[in-house]
Amino acid sequence: MTGAPLIGVLALQGDVREHENALASCGVATRRIRLPADLDGIDALVVPGGESTTMSNLALRWGLMEPLRARVGEGMPAYGSCAGMIMLADRLEGGRPDQQTIGGLDVTVRRNAFGRQVDSFEADVQILALGPTPIHAVFIRAPWVEQAGESVQVLGTIASGDAASRIVAVRQGHLLATSFHPELTGDTRVHQYFVEMVREQA
Ligand code: GLN
Repeated sequence: MTGAPLIGVLALQGDVREHENALASCGVATRRIRLPADLDGIDALVVPGGESTTMSNLALRWGLMEPLRARVGEGMPAYGSCAGMIMLADRLEGGRPDQQTIGGLDVTVRRNAFGRQVDSFEADVQILALGPTPIHAVFIRAPWVEQAGESVQVLGTIASGDAASRIVAVRQGHLLATSFHPELTGDTRVHQYFVEMVREQA
């Protein structure tokens, strides 16, 4: 990689623009990924929040699922927020029967894990990898990580309440995922952390 990395944003569905803005404020170039050819030359991938069943359908229909699996399997860094976390998970609970994922992260992710009463909520999450100030996290029909394999590093958990100690941020080598949406809050530390991962990999 010479100069700034080029980061693809999976643009099948979801909050693509918000991730583009967050990445732009980290000083990296982005490209929308809709077709397999769009993957040529990108250094990393962001999978946005949205609806993972729709992303799965569209990725299969447009022939993107296998190329995405291949690139992520070869070690291309990827970050997924919310539905993006679901897309990067090897195993799902509460997925639709026909739902597929890109996979790569050795985790079981539970969809819509926080339940109906708390469809959406905000909480401060301590993520020491991002510094001492907790991140203000927005959760929207969010998943959590139900089970994580040995090589998965837990970066953040819910501090208190019914969901106390549930895992909401993980890293496994070149893969990063959060249950919440840092792209919605203007705090770019998660995106900066990901860009650092991408630069280290290069
Ligand atoms: N519940 C959604 C899904 O299963 C994820 C929600 C989100 O990305 N905000 O895909």
